[in-house]
Amino acid sequence: MAEMLWIRPRTLSEALEYVKDESLHVHGGGTHLLRNWKGSIRGLIDLSELDLDFVRISKEWIDIGAMATYADIVRALRNSFPENVLVDALSRSASTALRNRITIGGSLALLPPWSNVLGPAIATDAIVSLEGMNRGLYPVADVQRNKLLLKGSLIHSIRIPVRHSVAVFHTEKRVAFDYPSFTITICADFERDLFTNVRVVITGVADLFARLESVERKIEGCSPAEVNSRAVCASLPISFTKKPLGSPQYLLELASVQLERCVMKLVSLASRKRG
Ligand SMILES: Cc1cc2nc3c(=O)[nH]c(=O)nc-3n(C[C@H](O)[C@H](O)[C@H](O)COP(=O)(O)OP(=O)(O)OC[C@H]3O[C@@H](n4cnc5c(N)ncnc54)[C@H](O)[C@@H]3O)c2cc1C
Repeated sequence: MAEMLWIRPRTLSEALEYVKDESLHVHGGGTHLLRNWKGSIRGLIDLSELDLDFVRISKEWIDIGAMATYADIVRALRNSFPENVLVDALSRSASTALRNRITIGGSLALLPPWSNVLGPAIATDAIVSLEGMNRGLYPVADVQRNKLLLKGSLIHSIRIPVRHSVAVFHTEKRVAFDYPSFTITICADFERDLFTNVRVVITGVADLFARLESVERKIEGCSPAEVNSRAVCASLPISFTKKPLGSPQYLLELASVQLERCVMKLVSLASRKRG
């Protein structure tokens, strides 16, 4: 059996040279890679020497390096920005041991249907910074839809605008340690008694994720008293495939109920902010 290469580049440019070789794979936390091993992999490019485990918070942005783990991110944001939706989303992912390993870079490269990053990243208008062949800044949805962007490139970091003042996250699981069947993220600004910049994202649907713009429009510009959560969530333009949790029809019914609860929670959070 050929020996597997374990490469630890010390600079970004060195890492980018290795990334050009398709038989070498970037190693983030290894939680997916090592469970889904492909025989064609000749070696791993371990990014742990590159100082990419940062979480930097300024007035405008939260910048998170690709090697920051879910636990790193929750720890950093919980103190300085506890209302950020990632705090709730990531702290409810997988198990404590896994949260100490799973990186934001590996999660964004993979974006599985059970991802707890995808919904919050889209709802907060996060931008992914790629280095290498496709160097540039890309909306998360573009990275999800076009995996070819990662060819010859690696995820360097993610930039999240500091904007939304109220956020709600829901993850639908059978038991605490389960892959989510779907997630719901709602983010909005709340100023002068009105919701603006409303984003509603559901993941785990047939098309992986959907931004529910029809729901957003019914909340945008409203005061908490004007939001009718039942009417807002009627006739959702989404569908599901069968999952261990239930049939497509059951999941659609459940998603409508949970979305209605999320909207009610948003209204209650905003009302409390108003005081
Ligand atoms: C039992 C279990 C339960 C889980 N539950 C959840 C959950 O509830 N919610 C959730 O969000 N996640 C969950 N996860 C994690 C998720 O399934 C993936 O394992 C994880 O997101 C991968 O991250 P990683 O850092 O370990 O990446 P790795 O396994 O290291 O890599 C994954 C892929 O990304 C590539 N990659 C890694 N880093 C980069 C980079 N910087 N640039 C480009 N490509 C890169 C790798 O080459 C590989 O193809 C769970 C995992 C397990 C094992």
